Amino acid sequence: MLSTMMRTPLTLSHLLERAGRLFPTSEIVTRMPDRSLHRYTYADFYRRARALAEALQKAGMQPGDRVATLSWNTSAHLEAYFGIPVAGGVLHTLNLRLHPTDIAYIINHAEDRFLIVDDVLIKLYEAIKDHINIEKVIVVPLTGQPVPEGLTSYEDFLATATGDFSYPELPEDTAMGMCYTSGTTGKPKGVLYSHRSMVLHSLGSALPDALNLAQSDVLTPVVPMFHVMAWGLPFTGIMVGCTIAMPGPHLDAVNLLDLYESEQVTKTAGVPTIWMGVLQALQKEPTRWKLLPMEMVVGGAAAPEAMIRAYDTFNLKVVHAWGMTEMSPLGTVSRIKHNLADSDPDTLYALRACQGMPMPLVEVRAMNEHGEAPWDGHTMGELEVRGPWVAQSYFNLESERDKWSADGWFRTGDVVTISSEGFVKITDRTKDLIKSGGEWISSLDLENLLMGHPAVREAAVIAVTHPRWDERPLAAIVLKEGATVTTEELRSYLEPKVAKFWIPDAFVFVDEIPRTSTGKFLKMQLRDKFKDWHWE
Ligand code: AMP
Repeated sequence: MLSTMMRTPLTLSHLLERAGRLFPTSEIVTRMPDRSLHRYTYADFYRRARALAEALQKAGMQPGDRVATLSWNTSAHLEAYFGIPVAGGVLHTLNLRLHPTDIAYIINHAEDRFLIVDDVLIKLYEAIKDHINIEKVIVVPLTGQPVPEGLTSYEDFLATATGDFSYPELPEDTAMGMCYTSGTTGKPKGVLYSHRSMVLHSLGSALPDALNLAQSDVLTPVVPMFHVMAWGLPFTGIMVGCTIAMPGPHLDAVNLLDLYESEQVTKTAGVPTIWMGVLQALQKEPTRWKLLPMEMVVGGAAAPEAMIRAYDTFNLKVVHAWGMTEMSPLGTVSRIKHNLADSDPDTLYALRACQGMPMPLVEVRAMNEHGEAPWDGHTMGELEVRGPWVAQSYFNLESERDKWSADGWFRTGDVVTISSEGFVKITDRTKDLIKSGGEWISSLDLENLLMGHPAVREAAVIAVTHPRWDERPLAAIVLKEGATVTTEELRSYLEPKVAKFWIPDAFVFVDEIPRTSTGKFLKMQLRDKFKDWHWE
């Protein structure tokens, strides 16, 4: 029997309208390239996002047309986040850290028709312009420098709107945005989010046991808006009506801490690399910044337990979350369950260092050669997920169908254990697992432990071919400034903590660990570097 309930479509125009009506005085702050702070209110944001929507329609944007952005986290980018989709376009955020050849490939694969680019990134546009076919390029004048000839100024473009925009009626499954995976292997793959998936993701993310966002919060998304829609935070933030303080192009520790202090930030989110830098700055000058107690969501790569502990001493709470481009991205968040709240401190830290419990509406299972792994906290399997904000295919790419199981779950490529309490713990990427003498070794566990050693800043553990054991672990170590440690000391440090055969056979001290554009260890490059390693 059908219900008697209305079926209003879940579209972003509801979020924009709500923000404009209910929170006209909430502020949006942007750190500009010259470090000054630009401020305006939701009323301005609402007017300008709608002006962009109208201007795009007037410029001939058709439903489903892709509009690319090459931009930092700014208020103008936020306008694009809403203005493009509410007009029926598809917001395509480009990762400006990729190689120009890859950016051009992505633009061409997506068949982008319009491009909005920050003036400070014009050089990047110039490096790709002869390899792409964009109809109209709109430049956001962040510096006040004149816009290059032949390109349109964003302000002039907005001025073509008269203020009579009306929302087109969009079915909720209409595509609203697209992102390409940062991919450490192969060509980037595109995911198309729908209005429905993004609205549901926003509702889920705002929950207290997820990202815990309320209208009284001040939110700083440090995670770039070109990386999985800044984890959906621009949508969630605008939906709840909170103050938003954007770092612009200034992602270094001092600028971030200055922003946290001046704007009294209560919620922020970013990858572990960024939080490592901020932690070092705080440790160096512990009394310099007067911060409010702040929740710092960390994801994109594993957060070392030592980092979570260190931030606690500053009254800053690191909240570990896991996700993927293919899942909008939030999948799990690590919050302590009430029945575990009285556990001893070490257990609590271990739980917080896990990737956490699945969000409402997200289902998880771990699959191995025997089928579904039990939720026992130690049987490993590949994590598979299902839910309304999980992709069911890539954009225009048939070759990757095997990323979905026959019964429709998405295969994440992450190897996990799931505890009886439902805490997911990532032990590796499938391709990073180390198989030694037929037994699995978790590189992530080893890295996490090594990064708890007082002399170690970073550690990446990889598998290297071994004549006897097939593979053995090699640890690449970056030391903290001025610190020293011997291989023997590291071995003895690990000995009481892991099985003997887990202890890496080699420790190599390096200046830095190579990383992807989104801050993940580039283990492929490390494996390549050490592939001819001579075991003693
Ligand atoms: P991306 O699509 O670029 O967001 O990358 C997704 C991948 O990043 C996941 O499949 C994981 O391998 C990794 N990842 C994301 N969050 C975490 C986390 N909290 N801990 C460990 N790995 C993570």
